[in-house]
Amino acid sequence: MNILLIGSGGREHALAWKMAQSALVDMVHSTPGNPGMDDVGPCFDVAVTDIDKLVQLTLQVEPDLVVIGPEAPLAAGLADVLRARGFDVFGPSAQAAQLESSKAFSKARMKEYGVPTAAYGEFTDPVLAKSYLRTLDAPYVLKADGLAAGKGVVIAPTLEEADAEIDEMLSGKFGDASATLVIEEFMHGEEASIFVITDGTGAVYLPAAQDHKRAGDGDTGPNTGGMGAYAPAPVVTDEILARVKKEIVQPMLKGMKRDGMPYQGVLYVGIMVTADGPKVVEFNARFGDPECQVLMKGLSGDIVPAILGAATGGLEGNEEAFEALLELDRFEPTATIVLATEGYPGSYAKGSVIRGVKTANDLPGVTVFHAGTDMDEGGVLVANGGRVLNVTASGETLKEAVERAYAGVNAIDWPEGFCRRDIGWRALGETT
Ligand code: ATP
Repeated sequence: MNILLIGSGGREHALAWKMAQSALVDMVHSTPGNPGMDDVGPCFDVAVTDIDKLVQLTLQVEPDLVVIGPEAPLAAGLADVLRARGFDVFGPSAQAAQLESSKAFSKARMKEYGVPTAAYGEFTDPVLAKSYLRTLDAPYVLKADGLAAGKGVVIAPTLEEADAEIDEMLSGKFGDASATLVIEEFMHGEEASIFVITDGTGAVYLPAAQDHKRAGDGDTGPNTGGMGAYAPAPVVTDEILARVKKEIVQPMLKGMKRDGMPYQGVLYVGIMVTADGPKVVEFNARFGDPECQVLMKGLSGDIVPAILGAATGGLEGNEEAFEALLELDRFEPTATIVLATEGYPGSYAKGSVIRGVKTANDLPGVTVFHAGTDMDEGGVLVANGGRVLNVTASGETLKEAVERAYAGVNAIDWPEGFCRRDIGWRALGETT
């Protein structure tokens, strides 16, 4: 079968790479893709936000399955339009994708379905927001309701800072995205990401992963889209996973279906493992980036049956068979290191030359996924974004995977790039 994949990041390169290995797949077409995805299959030049052109492209390619990588086209209703045209689509409807695109919507669903999460209030009025703040203990968690490219959450250590942030957010710091504000109780614990492939009823679980959000070693510096990840995450024990299934995922899927917005695609469940058990930090309507790179690289089996099952139905009652095809028991410990352009997540230059990717790819266990790369006119690989490469490696143990991934990083010659040097520290029991 033929697949059309929407997206151009490291997440999509990893998905394309993995799906293309399936015996079920003839060709993975991508748009807009990146130089790494060019090696997997044909790439088109339609942007992920141009819904009309994406529909035209889909009609032209006539894929058997459309896989939507990023959140923006999901929030804009691409899955709905394509389903209405008769295509099988992996990715939720715009209504269901509000679990990511509106934090107020997401919190209201959790409250209604009895899913454990931080206590919260939703505000458009600064006076009411500030009086709610005074019922909570520091630190204070303030979230813009809408999509703000991973920057819409502020953890304020004092009441004064929280008050000031409320004023800024409600007066348009993040535009429309912060016209409504969610204020939450702060949850203590360790975070992890759980990925559930679902057709709205049945649910297939991938290994739990952990992301590294801060730019600097030791979890310091500004927040980023993610500087590295690994899986499996030991904090998610069998007992925690069983609770996530029963207390979080099952009631969410059941409630969304009952309320006329069945969730089809991958549900990213960001949890905090607290003293009282797992609680939801956030839902995302797509795979995490860079967690996806780690999952695709570490999986021994075939991901396509589960993805197709989510798009076409039939997962319910067959979860064990789909999980057997994924060969979850053979999942290899895997780590990915993000190489980013100096300056990221602030401003950075484009166009610096990157050498040594092939050398890194030839090392044992290593696969380099492209994110913000481009080819210059002379066919030389250059940086074209903030997060540029994901050097990903599997091994017998997580320690070996991390060592292999850093060997890959060291093989890449890119003076303008940087990475964190402590990916996996929680699981490896090290702080450097
Ligand atoms: P992402 O870029 O992960 O999609 P986001 O902007 O959607 O992020 P959240 O995931 O809701 O925002 O929050 C960002 C981070 O803030 C979380 O990963 C977590 O570390 C922290 N955080 C959010 N809510 C809470 C909370 N209630 N208690 C403690 N920490 C929190």
